[in-house]
Amino acid sequence: MHVSRLLLPTFWPFSKPATATGESKPDPEGVATTDERIERLVMALPDPVLVVAAGGKVVAANAHVRAALDADPLGHHLSATIRAPALLEAVNAAVEGAEAHRVELEMRVPLARSFDVHVAPLGGAALLVFRDLTREQQIERMRADFVANASHELRTPLASLSGFIETMQGAARNDEAARTRFLTLMRQQSDRMRRLIDDLLSLSRIEINEHVRPTGTADLAQIASMVRDNLDGIARELDCEIVLQLQGPLPVIGDGDELLQVVQNLVENALKYGSSGKRIEIEGGPLNGHMELTVRDHGPGIAAEHLPRLTERFYRVSVLESRMRGGTGLGLAIVKHILNRHRGRLSIASEPGQGSAFTIRLPAAK
Ligand code: ADP
Repeated sequence: MHVSRLLLPTFWPFSKPATATGESKPDPEGVATTDERIERLVMALPDPVLVVAAGGKVVAANAHVRAALDADPLGHHLSATIRAPALLEAVNAAVEGAEAHRVELEMRVPLARSFDVHVAPLGGAALLVFRDLTREQQIERMRADFVANASHELRTPLASLSGFIETMQGAARNDEAARTRFLTLMRQQSDRMRRLIDDLLSLSRIEINEHVRPTGTADLAQIASMVRDNLDGIARELDCEIVLQLQGPLPVIGDGDELLQVVQNLVENALKYGSSGKRIEIEGGPLNGHMELTVRDHGPGIAAEHLPRLTERFYRVSVLESRMRGGTGLGLAIVKHILNRHRGRLSIASEPGQGSAFTIRLPAAK
């Protein structure tokens, strides 16, 4: 890519041919002037970069800066694209030869974005290197939210436990029946804390490995039948039946233990929220070089507005119902992360009153 020379104003500060300065090394074509080289350098840099000449006009801008700002500032005064007095001041100072410094830039339009801009003097002009902080800040916010949510989730059962202990030490000290009842409730609360901690640890273990693609193979059909065997007893207690409808073996590239957790979480959810439908089907077969497995229930289903958010950590349609059924709000987040690591996909189809179908799709093994 090359900036048209015609766009460079006459006050472009690097207007002497390189050969005349005698400082530059010969370029392959042997004809580039210093300003052409600077343009090329700006174009070749991997970061969003622009050069502003004295007077404020943008005289070079690479594709990254156009993408980052969602505008083409080239040939215009910088203030036409960025209205930030602190940045404009820093640019003027750099043009006058002041030392390089950083300016934080918050943009509201066209999108809310934040940048860290390094403004450096460049022989009578200013070089601006942008670092997009938007994504970093988003991740930081998500991390902070996650810690707050996890702490809150753990604090709730802990508060009940403390309450029960206090009561047993005080009012219920000599009441055998109350103590037995409280111990049962305390057991439930401590089980809930254990499930939460187990899920949090699973999630962090999976995240650590998320960029490492599994190399082994596993058979989804075998996994489905193991899950059915594991959960058959619970299904029976709920007066529900788990039915396998599999088209032969379903070999995929993957980690058997992790995929077992995926299918187990989906069938557990079908039992927790959809057992009123009396029947859960696990269907599977090959499709376009992939293997698909669907866990289908005939329960109450899920309203459309919740579907895109179900795999977010701690997102639940009803927190109360999830807690009542021993949920942590992390089951589908774990499913999503395991599938990400496997380059697999989860799709959810559901309609209120019609039940839900959770389909996973994974690359088939040869
Ligand atoms: P939880 O531990 O709460 O079950 P998940 O991440 O596994 O957390 O699921 C998130 C939410 O998705 C659940 O709280 C529930 O509201 C909804 N959900 C998941 N599976 C089903 C299903 N088969 N039928 C209806 N709702 C479901």
